[in-house]
Amino acid sequence: ELELIQVSKQFGNEIAVSQFDQHFAAGKYVCLLGPSGCGKSTTLRMIAGHESVSTGEIQLDGRSIASLRPAQRGTSMMFQSYALFPHLSVLGNVAFSLKMRGTEAAVRDRKAHELLELVHMGDFAQRRPDQLSGGQQQRVALARALITEPSVLLLDEPLSALDPFLRIRMRAELSRLQRELGITFIHVTHSQDEAMALSDQVVLMNNAVIEQSGTPFDVFNSPRTEFVARFMGGHN
Ligand code: ATP
Ligand code: MG
Repeated sequence: ELELIQVSKQFGNEIAVSQFDQHFAAGKYVCLLGPSGCGKSTTLRMIAGHESVSTGEIQLDGRSIASLRPAQRGTSMMFQSYALFPHLSVLGNVAFSLKMRGTEAAVRDRKAHELLELVHMGDFAQRRPDQLSGGQQQRVALARALITEPSVLLLDEPLSALDPFLRIRMRAELSRLQRELGITFIHVTHSQDEAMALSDQVVLMNNAVIEQSGTPFDVFNSPRTEFVARFMGGHN
């Protein structure tokens, strides 16, 4: 389980995240939802360790992860743009993190192949990223993020670059993957549709603070503030 305890982030005079206090049970699909600039990506980056916290603490299974580098945290991040390495094959991209860790070639290639099967990209192992569609690149990016066997997968607007048709298909794909793997997904989005369709738990942010957190049903049906009611009722 992942816990953020009164976590804040300040850039100069600007408070990007204020007193984020939230507990995520293991194996849940969490959507971090809110308008542009409300602090979603910053929150994700602090969990991943790409950004330090200004105040507060982040714990995984009861232990502070402040001193751990990103690769040591048991988290993995899939970025807003897929950012595959253009000069590596699909297999090379997926196996990359294990290569960095010194895993032997036969083992990392076997694991990379398994993950490519999981995301239905088994036939594309030798292609280069520029020979793939957007949706296919995204599947490869997912496999790449999963190869370190994270207990928490962090997804920053993973569907935003896809056309509407593909977006709906990939939603179903993400949902299936999360259930099959049984790990926690924290999925950042500004789309309330997406959050309603995917999540066990929604955390709705606005202006650096959490407005409301709960099941999609509760947040939609029992909004605590006018902002929540408006945001959940709109189509973002
Ligand atoms: P979007 O939906 O547009 O991606 P977001 O909710 O992910 O928005 P963040 O990227 O977390 O928003 O940014 C929150 C606030 O912090 C913004 O006002 C942003 O300008 C500011 N911010 C983020 N990163 C930095 C940085 N490295 N230096 C200074 N300010 C930053
Ligand atoms: Mg963002």
